[in-house]
Amino acid sequence: MLAKSGQLEAGLRPLDDEEAVAAEAAALEARYGELEPQDVITLSIGRFGYEELAAVSSFGADSAVLLHMLARIDPALPIIFLDTGKHFEETLRYRDALAADFGLRNITVYEPLTSALVLGDPSGDLHRSDVDACCNIRKVEPMARAVEPLAAWFTGRKRFQASTRNALPVFEATGPRIRINPLARWTTADLAAYMRAHQLRENPLVAYGYLSIGCFPCTQPVKPGEDARSGRWAGQAKIECGIHLSDLDHSLTASSL
Ligand code: SF4
Repeated sequence: MLAKSGQLEAGLRPLDDEEAVAAEAAALEARYGELEPQDVITLSIGRFGYEELAAVSSFGADSAVLLHMLARIDPALPIIFLDTGKHFEETLRYRDALAADFGLRNITVYEPLTSALVLGDPSGDLHRSDVDACCNIRKVEPMARAVEPLAAWFTGRKRFQASTRNALPVFEATGPRIRINPLARWTTADLAAYMRAHQLRENPLVAYGYLSIGCFPCTQPVKPGEDARSGRWAGQAKIECGIHLSDLDHSLTASSL
């Protein structure tokens, strides 16, 4: 069920169609941005097809909702999981349990390049001295490699997760590709109601206050009243690992990974 990607470094698509992609994302948002998530998923499959569309999931705190919706529409839809090598064991077990629950049969695992680890993080503790460099090796480069063949991908991001996401659209351009956030407008109450209605399994770390779950060295439980993502890189200026930033393609081009 789980396939591992090869370790060929990505070549990038030409970026000369960025303007057209931005115009299409804006048009999709204007026309379909208010639709229910399931309708967004269905029309996106119709628009982009299976060859150039996937979902990226962290199998984190509330990943089950989007994955359940996708599986009900088609459990063979490609799912991308970035295995940084620093995930909680609970997350890896949760990934496998959800895949079994939902019958997901097309999950591809992307790992950091061995050459980049040997060169940049040989002892595995780069996160202690340089979180940006560590995220570049373990998340950004694998993510860029994973989405390189795609025209669009789904994420589970929501507006409520952080003040930096409070204007998140459902359809957004990122370089020459479109990122689709079907749950952008959903609230914590919407998610909880869906989880209850479908009796979905919860990531066991949520019970311990982890409301946004990434790598274990960089994730802490969240205090009551704080943003769900405040436990990520707590105490540091960093707020995103880079895989959701608008210049993902450019960051790979500019990096020396
Ligand atoms: S979240 Fe932390 S451990 Fe994970 S890739 Fe980024 S810096 Fe490294």
